[in-house]
Amino acid sequence: MNLNELASLIEHSPDYEWVRRAACGTLELAELDRFFVDAGRSLSSDTVKMCEGCAARVDCLDHAYAHEIAGGYFGGLSPSKRKTLTHAEARAVIGVPLAPPSSPETSDLGSLVRVALR
Ligand code: SF4
Repeated sequence: MNLNELASLIEHSPDYEWVRRAACGTLELAELDRFFVDAGRSLSSDTVKMCEGCAARVDCLDHAYAHEIAGGYFGGLSPSKRKTLTHAEARAVIGVPLAPPSSPETSDLGSLVRVALR
């Protein structure tokens, strides 16, 4: 992805709340290109550390899966890695479950009935 494409992507993205928590949020536009390395190349160690310590890492990864983004590192995972992993597997790689389990007491009608009959 060249800088013009990256600028266009950012300019046309909605204002996601999690972006304000992103460790890369203070980088200049030109520096964001570090997340879009050529196939077969890896992120620099500085960038890897940035993603590992990012408060928005899960949101970033979720964003890539929700929008089926094929290129770029998101949540610190490469495009090729994401391609081989399900969303749940990718979340497990960075140490979080897919989603918090829903409350069995409110998740479906059967559970509501069981709670009511207690
Ligand atoms: S995890 Fe995503 S939002 Fe956080 S620093 Fe890495 S690329 Fe930026």
